[in-house]
Amino acid sequence: MNTKSLNNQISMKNKINQLILFCTLLISLAFNTFAQKKDYPIKPVAFTKVHVEDNFWQPKMEINAKVTIPYVIAQCKANGRMDNFLRAGKKMSGDKMSEFPFDDTDVYKAIEGASYSIQNKANPKLEAYIDTLISIIGGAQEPDGYLFTFRTVNAKKPHEWIGAKRWEKEEILSHELYNAGHLYEAAVAHYQATGKKTLLNIAIRNANLLVKTFGPGKTEEYPGHQIVEIGLSKMYRVTGNQKYLDLAKFFLDVRGPKGDEYNQAHEKVTDQHTAVGHAVRAAYMYTGMADIAALTGDTKYLSAIDDIWGDVVNKKLYITGGIGATGAGEAFGEAYQLPNMSAYAETCAAIGNVYWNERMFLLHGDSKYVDVLERTLYNGLLSGVSLSGDRFFYPNPLASMFQHQRSAWISCACCISNMARFLPSLPGYVYAQDKNDLYINLFMSNTSKISLATTGVEITQTTDYPWKGEVTININPEKTAVFTLRIRIPGWAAQEASPGNLYSFMDKKTTPVKISINGEVTSFITEKGYAVLTRKWEKGDKIFLNLPMETDKVIANKNVKDDASRFVLQRGPVVYCLEGPDNKDSLVQNIMIGKNAIASSHYEQNLLDGVGVIDIKGQSTKRQIKSDSLLVTAQDVKAIPYYAWANRGPSEMTVWIPYEQSAAMPKPAPTIASRSQVSGSLKNKRMFSAIKDQYEPANSKDTNFPYLHWWPAKNTDEFLQYNFESEQTVSESKVYWYDDGPWGGCRIPASYRLLYKKGELWIPVESISPYEISKDKWNVVKFKQVSTSALRMEIRLPPEQATGVHEWTVE
Ligand SMILES: [Zn+2]
Repeated sequence: MNTKSLNNQISMKNKINQLILFCTLLISLAFNTFAQKKDYPIKPVAFTKVHVEDNFWQPKMEINAKVTIPYVIAQCKANGRMDNFLRAGKKMSGDKMSEFPFDDTDVYKAIEGASYSIQNKANPKLEAYIDTLISIIGGAQEPDGYLFTFRTVNAKKPHEWIGAKRWEKEEILSHELYNAGHLYEAAVAHYQATGKKTLLNIAIRNANLLVKTFGPGKTEEYPGHQIVEIGLSKMYRVTGNQKYLDLAKFFLDVRGPKGDEYNQAHEKVTDQHTAVGHAVRAAYMYTGMADIAALTGDTKYLSAIDDIWGDVVNKKLYITGGIGATGAGEAFGEAYQLPNMSAYAETCAAIGNVYWNERMFLLHGDSKYVDVLERTLYNGLLSGVSLSGDRFFYPNPLASMFQHQRSAWISCACCISNMARFLPSLPGYVYAQDKNDLYINLFMSNTSKISLATTGVEITQTTDYPWKGEVTININPEKTAVFTLRIRIPGWAAQEASPGNLYSFMDKKTTPVKISINGEVTSFITEKGYAVLTRKWEKGDKIFLNLPMETDKVIANKNVKDDASRFVLQRGPVVYCLEGPDNKDSLVQNIMIGKNAIASSHYEQNLLDGVGVIDIKGQSTKRQIKSDSLLVTAQDVKAIPYYAWANRGPSEMTVWIPYEQSAAMPKPAPTIASRSQVSGSLKNKRMFSAIKDQYEPANSKDTNFPYLHWWPAKNTDEFLQYNFESEQTVSESKVYWYDDGPWGGCRIPASYRLLYKKGELWIPVESISPYEISKDKWNVVKFKQVSTSALRMEIRLPPEQATGVHEWTVE
């Protein structure tokens, strides 16, 4: 070896050493900067550290893993979603696509749910299938990272929502960025659960394309349907790439003021102070804003979402935790507009509400956010899936007259795949920590290992929550150490029915919350809704928490007209409802319960997979012919948890129970119509009873009372018919049309006429008053008296709309 070569080698070695040193410096610099970056002051304890073994939630998570996730995957396959990716990747010929440009997200959400699920319980078969799916998704990605099957397949007749060029219709309907957001959430979950970077790398390529495409001076557009903001913040946390965070912030800042309220683009996001528009979009946006507030420390975002949160809990939150009152635009209603039978309360919006309130808690450390989260979780979110795990609600109404039923699949499947991804992530909501403070937010039996600043600690909870209020908490620190436990005292256990002034208890209760440590009752101070227990904790320390689980009556703010003179039965976090199968004659709308009625409760193992039920004395009410007073009879009433309704077929159901006759919905009086059997040209025969229930609507578009309709038919001839119990003499018909114009699809008919049955023939009646057709009133026709066994109404639908009928009486 000559000197020159040795020198070269030494210099090379030095260079390498220098390079290594430089790299180490860079990495440590990068790591340190990243580690010190701003984030939520309080961190959730990851779902991977919390092992739930709860009697209430564990079976539901198991059904999600065994039934829902495989079911969603199978349905995605059967409904063309996998084919979309195969076609985009040229692994399948043809250009037939599924129905909606956001269908890719159902596959992403299935992967996200499967990822959490295999972390909770290993499932090699599912994991292998997900690997295959990821390679199919990778095949559908274009070389520059673009991933959106509806464009890549390049169908001869492209979907009208997506525009000719990339992103062209993003602000309206294309959902390209919505798909990206769900891709990122799935990729991060898959990486965290399996350590595999396969999907994460696909997501990184896509996110890098977005960084290249969008931003100040580049394409300056906002996402038509928010969620990419949440996804990008997650990508930033996992990769440390600041550009992802900057882009998430850009997508919020570029929003408004010239867009629509529908997707919250009517104002700059920091100028928004009330909840408006599409509720799922809104909830995802507020969640994204909380992320940005935490990750950047920007207080303007914080004050905006603080105000919006106040608007929701004071004016726009259902007692079930559902949000989004109206089906028109799937949107928030006006203040206090909270109809029950027509409540939209989309399952996705409930899930979004949980995401948002979790973030609000992480920002503020206040239990009121977890109160809203818990209310949503046990009620308006859980109602979205059947006990069997394979039937789903999209809207979650709070009252029913047989017209609602969970669906096996919905072509817009957002709520179904959202349920599949949410439930297995639940363990991540139980605890949170701030350095040496451990927050206990939800009560469910579990074993968890958590690292605090002073020591690692194993914590177990044993409880029969939500049926019982006792919770035993075992604390096993690795070493004796001082730390603080913050145990949430739920609002319902501390005189507050719900944060804000929308709901309150009818009677204040008196039983205090009790906490004992190692058998001794301890006094405690409360901060922001948490019992604060700071002490030197030792192995084997045992806390006993006793939350007074009593049956409460909750009333709504008097501005909520739909809940006037009604109350809700609530026990702990669980909102109850009355459902047909548990009550006399399978009827509940006619039930009334006095304000002072005393309730008792017990657990029924064999009912609805095991539920706590409430028994209470009430009355049934019935109309009388030619009299305004009601027939009132004493009756035993039974209530079940709201989340468990609609598991025994369509039925009557109500959450809000009248306590005064003025609010009662009595059983019909025995009229010719109410005693008749209805038939007609309608497939959904469950709607027939609506026209003879004797509830008079406030106007033609009143959705608080049942109605029947022919939507989406138009320009056709339809009929309804009363088949009388026996031959009747009739001479008058009164009909109240359903018309939800200008936004809905029903209008008063083009024309109608009445016919009576004579033998096998239908003969038009001889009218002696004109066939008036008007909305918002009774349309009366008098005709020459006929004796007949049936009366028929023939209806001509308008050329461009359907028609509906609220009520039809004959005399
Ligand atoms: Zn949905």
